[in-house]
Amino acid sequence: MKLEHIGIAVKSLGISDELFSKLLGTESYKKETVEREGVVTSFYAAGESKIELLEASREESPISRFIDKKGEGIHHLAFGVENILYEVARLKKEGFEFISEEPKEGADNKLIVFLHPKCTNGVLVELCQEKQ
Ligand code: ZN
Repeated sequence: MKLEHIGIAVKSLGISDELFSKLLGTESYKKETVEREGVVTSFYAAGESKIELLEASREESPISRFIDKKGEGIHHLAFGVENILYEVARLKKEGFEFISEEPKEGADNKLIVFLHPKCTNGVLVELCQEKQ
């Protein structure tokens, strides 16, 4: 597995895009809304990994719930895998729990699943596989 990206929950992409462009010295290379997940995403290249800014696209989005509870900040770590179904089966055997085991379409041409943070030291972990 490699660290594919770090997801950061933000209140306003307008403000945070400006901040992260300055910080990383590069513009966002992609913006994408994933309506089913209630998020607008903005991606930055950072070496071999990426930064994914996440803004709520509607009021009852998981991102607004997260920000209400914890404030803005790191939301999840995403690990890139070659075969997501294999990794889900492997990790289930190891006793990990998933928020939903069925891979679904995420942003950036990926299939994604999330592990339950209660089994990963409170860190929300995403597995992602490039869609063929
Ligand atoms: Zn992500």
